[in-house]
Order: sequence, then structure tokens, then C-alpha cells
Amino acid sequence: MDADEFRTRGRQMVDYVADYLDTIDSRRPLPDVTPGYLRELIPSTAPDRGENFDTVMADLDRVIMPGVTHWHSPQFHAYFPAANSFPALLGDILSGGLGAIGFTWASNPACTELEVAMMDWLGKMLQLPNDFLYSESEKGGGIIQSSSSESALMALLCARTEVIRQQQDNNQHLTKGQVLDKLVAYTSIESHSCIERAAMTGLVTIRALPSDENGALRGATLEKAVQDDLDKELIPFYLGASIGTTTRCTFDNLKELGPVCNKHKIWMHIDAAYAGSACICPEFRYILDGVEHAKSLAFNPHKWMQVNHDCTAMWVKDKELIEGAFHIDYYILRQSNHGVRMPDFRHWQIPFGRRFRSLKLWFVLRSFGVSGLQALIRKDISLAKQFERFVQSDPRFEIVAEVVLGLVCFRLKGDNSRNERLNYLIHKDGRIHMTPSKVKDMYFLRFAICSTRTGAADVAFAWDIVREMADKVTLENGS
Ligand code: PLP
Repeated sequence: MDADEFRTRGRQMVDYVADYLDTIDSRRPLPDVTPGYLRELIPSTAPDRGENFDTVMADLDRVIMPGVTHWHSPQFHAYFPAANSFPALLGDILSGGLGAIGFTWASNPACTELEVAMMDWLGKMLQLPNDFLYSESEKGGGIIQSSSSESALMALLCARTEVIRQQQDNNQHLTKGQVLDKLVAYTSIESHSCIERAAMTGLVTIRALPSDENGALRGATLEKAVQDDLDKELIPFYLGASIGTTTRCTFDNLKELGPVCNKHKIWMHIDAAYAGSACICPEFRYILDGVEHAKSLAFNPHKWMQVNHDCTAMWVKDKELIEGAFHIDYYILRQSNHGVRMPDFRHWQIPFGRRFRSLKLWFVLRSFGVSGLQALIRKDISLAKQFERFVQSDPRFEIVAEVVLGLVCFRLKGDNSRNERLNYLIHKDGRIHMTPSKVKDMYFLRFAICSTRTGAADVAFAWDIVREMADKVTLENGS
């Protein structure tokens, strides 16, 4: 494919994507395929000779589309949102076109410098303490990671390196393995599995602590767990706190947890993957109160801030700890940074190479503006409130967790089995897509506002279907 054909194909592909998104409300959110469907549709080996791109384009509708889940359908209410916007798509095209890899400042100065600037723009939008910002502190700063999972892991590995160093400073005879065996990380039973995964990867013990009746991990619970472990001569070192849990969007009490972490020198990492975006609205910023105690935090603009996957914003209070923990001097990279103090992001992440992800963030922030992004968040929250009112108006149902942001967790009063049946009927019907969850043995349904295309009529449509299926469950149960 030469540049001229690329221009033609590029226009064709842009049209394909624009048409897809323009007509997405005509598609059912879930595809009707069974596992292995695609194997039948393509050859079992790669073609020996290159094919004409017309045949590739023709296969999109034949091979790919039948198996696509339409996350941007206004009837998609599962998981959490996956952001998608035209300015972000354009940023990804440019990033791919430049194809310039930014592992050090010198390997692509614009990549590092725009990322540094964007992390400060974003940090200021979230009103983060100055300690996390490049421009306002000596030590703070941020990076775009590919996921919240990677951010939780990097924070844990960093904390692990730091605590091993401190322990060995105090006792030179201790081996790393001996320290590792004693390290304990904490999280709540409601947090995302990425925290537990980080601990597994880091080879440390993790304790999932109980949440209170509002789904929050509280300071006293952490203090008690830490004391128990200290009594056993173990070494508490990391807390994975959550702001906006995946199960039911609950919030750990950072203001209580922070002082416990400070007292026991525990690294507090905040996972705000979904809810972080809401903090750009002053009225929701309170959910991050206590962030000043954290050593690191991350949230996903690729969930709820119009930036296509992948884009996770992660900040640390002390960048020397992260650079120091993973610093490897590599001769080929000893190229001058021209005396400019700029991060070499290869030290801050697991992979070596990195894409120019800040472009799409820059395009989004400039195209929507802060007030445009705030308006979209507020719209989604008001739609969730509309659904909450529908649920409250029907005495058969109950709300399972306070609706603070764009997620409504609800259930039919009574047994889990009635709710499992309700979920099954909604899923089988297929006009809307939701995912269930379970906390403390209570099974419930989650209604998330996901697509920017979802409006009040779609929420009413979804509620009609939930009610219709609930009628069937009630009839079946004779109650
Ligand atoms: N944390 C929370 C609260 C989440 O909701 C999710 C995903 O939904 C994650 C972490 C994982 O995010 P990622 O895919 O960026 O690792």
C-alpha cells in the first residue's frame, strides 16, 4: 500500500467507523455467536501473497462485525464505560502514523514533554495536591500507563523495593527473601481483582479486609489488621484503596485510612479507575478527600473521559522512588538529555517501549474543554438518578448501594435466586445488556450508564424491559 492508496483506504475506514457509530443504536448490544465462531470464517494459515485491501474491507462485515459487542450502543449498561470519541481516535491515528517510540526523552522528546504537560493539566483538573504535580513540586509527577492494573502493580513493586531497602539498612543479614516472606499488603473485599493480582505478582501476602455497611474500608478495620500482623512480626507495607469499586461503586474512607498508613509507613495507592473522572466536577471532588495521604493514585480517562483505550493516568508523590526502584543503566541510551530534567518513562513502567498516548488526551482536552467533559459526566449521573427513581417507584425492588455516580445497583427484594432468574431473562431477551454482581453473598444487578449516546428515552426503555422481566419472575414465583 503506497501513500495514495493509504489516503483512499484511510477515508474509507474513517467512513466505516463514522457510519458504524452513527447507526449503532440499530444493533443489539450483544453479538449472537458461539465460542469458536471465527475459526470457520478465515483460513487456518496466513496468506502467502499479499491480498488486495478490498477483500480485507469486505471481511469486516463477514468476519468481525458478527462477533463484536457494541459497547457504545445506548443499550449497553454492563461493567463500566469504555470511552470513545472522535478527537481521541484522531490522536491514535497520528500516534500510529508517527510510530515514534518514547522510552527515553531523547527517543521522542515530544512524547515525553507532552505527557508531562498533560499529566499536570489533568492533575489540576482533579485538584490534586501540588505534591503530585511536576510544575508545583520537586518530586511529584505522573505518567500515562496502559492500565489501572499496571499502575497498582508498579506502586506495589515500588513500595516493596523501598521496604526491603529499609529493612536491610536496619539489618544487613536479612535477605530479600526473608523480608518478602513477612510483607503484607491490604485491600478491601470490594476492590478490583487488580490489587490482589498485583500482590500475587509481587509475591507478597494480601489481606482482603471487610467493608462497612456502605461498602467502605474504614481506618479502624485497617488499624486492627495491621496490629494483628505486627503482633505476628510481619511487615505491613501497602494498601490498595479504592474510590469507586467495580462491584457497586463504593468509596473507601481515605481520610481515615491515610493516617493509619502514615503511622505505620504503609504505601497508600488509590485505585480510582472509573470514579476518578468525576473528580473534574467540583461537586464530586470530595470523593478524593484524603488523597493527600496517598503515595500514588491512578484513574482511567479511557473509562469515563472520552479518551479511547488505553490511557491510565498515574501520579506518584516521589518520582525518585519509582525511577530508583526500576532504574537500569543501558549504554545505548546514554544520550544526552541536554541537561533538561525530564523523566525517562521506561523506568516508570513494565514495558520498555511506549506509544504516544498523550496525543489523544491532548486532542480530547482541547476539543471538549473542561466544561464540555464536566457536562458529559453530569449528564450520565443524572441518567443514573433517573433509573434510580424508576427502581424506587416499584416496591418489588430495592437499591443496593447509594447512587453517587453513573451506576445503579439494585435487586428484587427476596432471594438471590429471583435475581439470578431476572438477570437470566434480561440477558436472554438481549435488547439491553447488563452484568450482575455479588457482594457479601448478596446477588444484584448493575445498571451502568456507559455510552455517550444513551439518553433519557434509552433509560426509560431499559426500565420497561427490567419491569417486563420482573413481571415474569413474579408470575413464575406466584408472588
Ligand atoms: N479498578 C477498578 C475499580 C475497575 O473498575 C477496573 C476495571 O473495570 C480496574 C481497576 C481495571 O482497570 P484496567 O483494565 O485499566 O486494569
